[in-house]
Amino acid sequence: MNTEKFDIIIIGAGPGGYETALEAAQKGLAVAIVEKNQLGGTCLNVGCIPTKCFCRNAEVLSDVQEAARYGIDTGEVHFDLTRVVERKNEVVGKLVGGVETLMKTPGITLFRGEARFRDDAHTVSVRTDDENEHVVEATNVIIATGSVSKFLPIEGAHGERVVTSTEMLDLNEVPRRLCVIGGGVIGLEFASIFNTFGSEVSVIEFCGEVLPFFDRELSKRLRTSLKKRGITLKTGAAVTRIEDGADGQKTIYYDEKGKESSLDADLVLMAVGRGANLESLNLSDVGIATTRRGISVDENMQTNVPGVYAIGDVNGLMQLAHAATAQGKVALAHILGQPSMAAPDLSVCPAAVFTVPEFAMVGKTEENLKTEGVAYEVHKAFYRANGKALAMNADDGIMKLLTDADGHILGAHILGAHAADIIHEVSALMNLGGTLSQLRRMIHAHPTLSEILVAL
Ligand code: FAD
Repeated sequence: MNTEKFDIIIIGAGPGGYETALEAAQKGLAVAIVEKNQLGGTCLNVGCIPTKCFCRNAEVLSDVQEAARYGIDTGEVHFDLTRVVERKNEVVGKLVGGVETLMKTPGITLFRGEARFRDDAHTVSVRTDDENEHVVEATNVIIATGSVSKFLPIEGAHGERVVTSTEMLDLNEVPRRLCVIGGGVIGLEFASIFNTFGSEVSVIEFCGEVLPFFDRELSKRLRTSLKKRGITLKTGAAVTRIEDGADGQKTIYYDEKGKESSLDADLVLMAVGRGANLESLNLSDVGIATTRRGISVDENMQTNVPGVYAIGDVNGLMQLAHAATAQGKVALAHILGQPSMAAPDLSVCPAAVFTVPEFAMVGKTEENLKTEGVAYEVHKAFYRANGKALAMNADDGIMKLLTDADGHILGAHILGAHAADIIHEVSALMNLGGTLSQLRRMIHAHPTLSEILVAL
């Protein structure tokens, strides 16, 4: 069998893989990229984009339901989940088509099939969909195979009507009662969406607070806001088993402070996190080290094998689409021998949760700073004092900025409308080493939600 030679092999065409392939080809490298499913990975097909389509549907529905508040009478409102799914499929189709075009860029060879390391960590065999086998070899290999949904190791976890986020995106009908196991990012986004779509939603979270890796004070505020919207939230509760009841109903048992309780639902969403997708790569045979979180990497995203890198969800550092893309840039800069300043600063990586209200953060939380023993100051501003927020009927929100004694920004946390957009102004300043007084000096257009930053 002929071996085809490239400068880089990239395994997986999600936002880590396809963006890196494009940049590498633009820099003149010969790139082989291997994808076993749809181009665009989890993000485009079953992650960021489809969920944000659903968020938009929920936003429109909510506006229509509240239209009378704005002096608009609508009559009876009909909601059709089939058309919601169709619109989502259209958006996904457009974006996947765009990536297909990008992967035709000169310098990129796309192999459609499953990749597996062969004799060593620089040789990959690809079994293509038509059962042919290709062998590709390169000095540099980037593993970008993403992650898969985890399941709790409990009785009933794999039963009927227990689904992951992927199946939630193609439902035929809105469940009357939805139980979400896991109050992390994915669980809360679906809880928020299906609450607006009309489900009775309960969330069971193991940790003492929802969104355990976010600012605790704002996570608590979010929990209160979600409760006000009618979502039942149980925190500090461990699901122990799921049983079938009559008419396809599920009973979810959970342990709360040593006491067993249960609740009934028509559908259960298992949202207890995602684990590195290492399946079928044959990593141990070629000596690539892993931990429980995923493939181990250094600050350049390089594994223990020189010239082999792992970016995105598969290394378990930060499960975010833009983090996967940024890590690809870091790996590529190292491959090209560029100074680290040419790559993004991974410590300033914003994260957003598209609940109602929205949640966004960048940098350190108060909890991080306490653990690290770093002294900090807290500055707060509230949406209720912002004119645009009041005009938008979006006064439920808070901005919290953490600085050192000289005003250098250590972290920012926003809960409120358009938090995911506002956070980037703070990110920009953090990338430039800016201070709170510089932020306050910057003129902000009036009236805008961003003015909240100058009210700090
Ligand atoms: P992926 O996007 O998972 O791509 C990996 C690709 O590798 C896949 O296409 C897979 O088929 C392919 N592959 C795997 N093994 C092989 C093999 N052996 N051979 C060939 N191909 C292989 N992140 C955000 O930043 N914002 C959000 O709003 C957001 N919302 C999300 C909502 C949901 C419901 C989910 C599930 C995730 C969400 N994420 C979000 C997370 C985001 O989708 C991931 O962080 C991102 O997709 C990771 O990119 P990646 O390139 O590492 O992997």
